[in-house]
Amino acid sequence: RSKRRGRGQITVYSQEIAQEMKRATQIEQALRNAIIADQVDVHFQPIVDLRSDSVVGFEALARWCDADLGYVSPSIFVPLAEERGFIESLAETLLRKAAQAALSWPKELFLSFNLSSAQLMDPATSSRLLSIIHQVGFDPRRLELEITETAVMADADVAQKIVSELRAAGVRVSLDDFGTGQSSLGRLRDFSFDKVKIDRAFVSRISADRASEHIIKAIVSMCEGLELEVVAEGIEDFAEALKLKALGCGMGQGYFYGKPADAVATMRYLSDRYRDVAASR
Ligand code: C2E
Ligand code: MG
Ligand code: MG
Ligand code: MG
Repeated sequence: RSKRRGRGQITVYSQEIAQEMKRATQIEQALRNAIIADQVDVHFQPIVDLRSDSVVGFEALARWCDADLGYVSPSIFVPLAEERGFIESLAETLLRKAAQAALSWPKELFLSFNLSSAQLMDPATSSRLLSIIHQVGFDPRRLELEITETAVMADADVAQKIVSELRAAGVRVSLDDFGTGQSSLGRLRDFSFDKVKIDRAFVSRISADRASEHIIKAIVSMCEGLELEVVAEGIEDFAEALKLKALGCGMGQGYFYGKPADAVATMRYLSDRYRDVAASR
């Protein structure tokens, strides 16, 4: 980073930026087309009750594979759709598909859907989401919406209004990626959440360091006091599952219990689990 290289650096950077812009525009166009052509898909990952190991719901996760671009991660294309102003149409397609698929599941299972920060800044979001749910015929009391601290921070007043309108309709709201944002504790007091999802960053280090274990223990006990449910994200093996159970964490999600899978595979997963349940009765 010496001064001597300064000018050259700037040229390199501006070329890189131009390249990135070009790629972003390429992704934007492909994604806009994919939405119209109904090629954006949604997968489902099981969320389990750690006390009984039974499935209690699924989180919907957007999936998109383009013929030219290949697989593009939702952590790339969701923010892009927000920046370029078409998150609404993307979210609408995704929620419609997810709710439609969830209609075939056993009635006691919930559907969890991620809301983006841009959606939490738009006062029309609650009525828009509720009307999709209504059109599909999905019970709003089986719907959960995941929001992040960063999203809540952007415009807390509007976000709070959206959340309370949704909760009034019976929708539950969970705080996603807990522990990675800022001023977490104040948010928990000011907002009415139903659930907290502990970020994978803590779970993945639980076997390696004691600090993560203490942090999870503290989150669990705080949530007990606040009457919030807790989900541990990113449980990848049996040892992690056992530790989290021992720490009193109520729910879990991760590759150990199931990777995100499409609607058909999810139905198969459910029929297998329910056959086991029926057999053990
Ligand atoms: P998220 O909501 O925190 O979702 C959890 C992510 O962790 C998912 O990544 C999931 O596939 C991954 N995951 C689950 N279990 C494990 C595990 O055991 N190990 C590891 N290594 N990973 C695990 P994914 O599907 O790539 O999504 C990334 C992020 O993109 C999501 O984070 C969410 O913020 C966003 N996203 C995905 N779908 C949607 C959507 O439909 N709408 C919005 N607004 N955002 C979405
Ligand atoms: Mg999530
Ligand atoms: Mg998360
Ligand atoms: Mg995340």
